[in-house]
Amino acid sequence: MSTVSCPKSSLPISQHAHRAAEQAISFLMQQAVENADCISLAAGLVDEQTLPVELTKTCLTNLLSKQESGRRLLQYGTTPGPADLRDVMRGYLAQLEQCPNQLQQLSLDQLVMTTGSQQLLNLITQALFNPGDICLVPAPTYFVYLGVLQAAGAKIIPVTADKDGMCPIDLERQLNRIKDAGKLSRVRLVYVVSYYDNPTGNSVSAERRPQLLNLVQQFSEEQRILLLEDAAYRELQYSGEKLPSIWSFDTDHQTVILAQTFSKSFSPGVRVGFGVLPADLVKPVCDIKGNDDFGSAHLNQNLVGEAIRLGLYQHHVNAVRTGYKAKRDAMLDAATQYFSDIPGASWIQPDGGMYVWMTLPEQVATGFSSPLFKQATQVEKVMYVPGELGYPADMPNRPCNQMRLSYGVQSVDGIREGMRRLASAVKTVLAEI
Ligand code: PMP
Repeated sequence: MSTVSCPKSSLPISQHAHRAAEQAISFLMQQAVENADCISLAAGLVDEQTLPVELTKTCLTNLLSKQESGRRLLQYGTTPGPADLRDVMRGYLAQLEQCPNQLQQLSLDQLVMTTGSQQLLNLITQALFNPGDICLVPAPTYFVYLGVLQAAGAKIIPVTADKDGMCPIDLERQLNRIKDAGKLSRVRLVYVVSYYDNPTGNSVSAERRPQLLNLVQQFSEEQRILLLEDAAYRELQYSGEKLPSIWSFDTDHQTVILAQTFSKSFSPGVRVGFGVLPADLVKPVCDIKGNDDFGSAHLNQNLVGEAIRLGLYQHHVNAVRTGYKAKRDAMLDAATQYFSDIPGASWIQPDGGMYVWMTLPEQVATGFSSPLFKQATQVEKVMYVPGELGYPADMPNRPCNQMRLSYGVQSVDGIREGMRRLASAVKTVLAEI
């Protein structure tokens, strides 16, 4: 039997590690483990049924069919990713941007391949922020990124967001407020999830895209502020208009950082993503990445590249969309069926992504220590993500009556049953208030 010996004295750890402690994501994962018998409408995992096993086999067989080229792929790559693959990524981006010829002017030096897009978010934050520097985020936003900012010691300023994404009027108001306080030089970044965001499912509207960019540029007179466009769910579109990226409005590519990932559309297990960066941010990011890993998984990058090159990727994404659309519709139908008779309950109908954002009557708190979370996980056996995780912890009056519901992992039947159980939990709690 193995034994764990007690440390003789305390272990001094860095301020960074202290700041990284008590992340919402760790707590959430812990909850998921403790409530493993629940129907999870919490997990942001992708639908297992969509994972491309056959396609992966085909691509890997191709890639490894010759000894010499196969060995090359099993060798280290390079820090920003091999140039031929970045060229494939540029072509793929041109397809997404619906401008097949125009991106040839984009230097490959501005493309950096990363381990998913999470690594890029982290690298950019490390490259830009000293403790006390400011990031403006929509409220609510992707809670894991809030953790990254917190670990960097950033000051996080929430900006009002609605069905059209971050509100330019409030962004301007906040930037003016910061300027009046003499702190504009501390602003590093404005962060948005531009398509079907996590957690609300809303996108930044066509009208607001250039407006947000213009505002960031307008306040960059003395010192550049960057806009980080996280496009993680971009390809998971099921309805509505096709939106150009915010990055595409940034004609000299000095303001917007575009973060792309293949996690949602292909496989999170391969951990392949890439970023398009302003030219002068590439070196600092690659310097830090060099310390991290001197290059993301070479074989995996080539796997995704091969799937794109063979045209198999696009077919796959189309099938993925069809599957998720059915699940989104199932969740929205179930919301109507089970929550319509709860006065004060409302939810957003997303055009894409993996989440439905629901607001409950004000008196129904949803947090981990709330009666609802207990009733849902311990009695009804269903789990959700408390909405408050999406707001900075120190935000005054942060809403406590919201939930992120994911239709990612459950089957259509699981989604219906999960929603039935959740509505039942809400009704029980309401009856006891
Ligand atoms: N951005 C958003 C908004 C996300 O939801 C996620 C994953 N949950 C990521 C970035 C990072 O994902 P990955 O590293 O797998 O690309």
